[in-house]
Amino acid sequence: MSVKMPNPPTVKKPLIIYLVIGIVIGAVLAGYAGYRYLAGREETPPPGGEDDGGENGTNVIYYGPGMDRHLLLGPNTTRIIVEVDWVSGYRPSDQALSVLGDRIEDTGGKQYTIMWDDEIITNTTSYTRETLEKLEKEHRDTPPEGLNGEASIYLLCLDGVYNSTQGILGVAYNGTSMAIMEEQIENIDIPLILRNLVSPQDFEASVMVHEMGHLWGLVNIGYESEKDHEDKEHPHHCTHDTCVMYWALETSPSSYIDNFLNTGSPKPPTTFCDDCKYDIQKIADGEY
Ligand SMILES: [Zn+2]
Ligand SMILES: [Zn+2]
Repeated sequence: MSVKMPNPPTVKKPLIIYLVIGIVIGAVLAGYAGYRYLAGREETPPPGGEDDGGENGTNVIYYGPGMDRHLLLGPNTTRIIVEVDWVSGYRPSDQALSVLGDRIEDTGGKQYTIMWDDEIITNTTSYTRETLEKLEKEHRDTPPEGLNGEASIYLLCLDGVYNSTQGILGVAYNGTSMAIMEEQIENIDIPLILRNLVSPQDFEASVMVHEMGHLWGLVNIGYESEKDHEDKEHPHHCTHDTCVMYWALETSPSSYIDNFLNTGSPKPPTTFCDDCKYDIQKIADGEY
């Protein structure tokens, strides 16, 4: 994590000014915390996006995805429990969860357990970060920091829409919490000629891994990579178009498919590029 304190000999303004600026910026950005993996228009900056936990020369208290990256990737954790709660009719696919589990193992270096927990009733089909947090408070059974080397990720699988926006497929909304908008994924309009090649479950798997990538801190959430792979136009996403942290699904799944048709594979990626893996290793080592 790159907390850049001003170098004392070059400080021209009193430290208090940096602190005040940082606190103000931190307070504003805290309201945006949470990441959207969206297939529709992006009308607000990526939540929490600009807060890199110290860019302004202060220790901003960061609240959102990335803040638990050391818990999820660090050496004290050996196993990740993935607690799954879902709205009736929107149980996630085994296929997608097994891809998520594979990445926890082969990229995160942790064992994993899928905990099929509750089928829940949410009394709404329109979700905000607030409602997600409320649902989590009500239904989450495994604390982020478990016992005996276990940590947990909370996975909410929902009907309806997030932030009143059709096409948002998922959101990492807190340090160890993500929501997958299963109904939106089901509704992706896959062209007829591609239906033998790509399925909603492929997108579902990609979205899950992508959100986990944000929980891990990708890209540049709370640290600054030595590798130049953050997409400046789509903060906290990766510039490599075959990486699961690529922004393309944020435009629309269909344009994503079009884009990937040109490369010969319409399937959305479920693996991380070398630059993202480099960052993951640094985070695991506590250097980022
Ligand atoms: Zn994203
Ligand atoms: Zn990448």
